[in-house]
Amino acid sequence: MDDSPADPLVTADAALHRLIEGNARYRAGHPRFTGMRPEMLAELSHGQQPFATILGCADALVPPELIFDAVLGELFVIRVAGHIHAPDASASLDYAHACLDTPLLMVLGHEGCGAVRAAIESRARRASIDPGIEGLVEAILPALAEVNADLSPDRQLSRAVEANVRLAMTRIADSAEGRRRLEAGRMMLVGAVYDEGTGRVRLLDVV
Ligand SMILES: [Zn+2]
Repeated sequence: MDDSPADPLVTADAALHRLIEGNARYRAGHPRFTGMRPEMLAELSHGQQPFATILGCADALVPPELIFDAVLGELFVIRVAGHIHAPDASASLDYAHACLDTPLLMVLGHEGCGAVRAAIESRARRASIDPGIEGLVEAILPALAEVNADLSPDRQLSRAVEANVRLAMTRIADSAEGRRRLEAGRMMLVGAVYDEGTGRVRLLDVV
């Protein structure tokens, strides 16, 4: 992995604008990136210069490079089910902070997230968690603390998806590296939710 830093001229605001514009192109069906050409590979072989880091779900319907119409080298993407702030994800975020210096970090949840749904179902059953996904569910359960279990399943899931984004944001902001970068004004932390039905990315919070 090359560790060229982000372009210092790209501010966090500009990086967020690029993501929003890319998502608009994606939804309109007018992507800028329509395929790799050999000359692009030669140019990109000099190293990555991502302008944003994205912590997103591993769900096959939510590939950040596509939904933000990004080309190779533009996004540093960490994907784990439920975008949980697990040790491996945390280590990759630290790498993005320390070696790539990307000005923007987005936590990207999505409507209908299966990992969040599994946590809701586990809470509803009040039974033992499926041992196959124990670690995943336990990492998400704290996000459900403020989600009313009496809501309809769909509303519970939608609220829980947002809460799970905010949980990851809090854990990042509370980490040693995250706190250091936020206090130094070297990072904008943004939460967002992707809707598979419309293709739209909706911003939640900006820190
Ligand atoms: Zn998911």
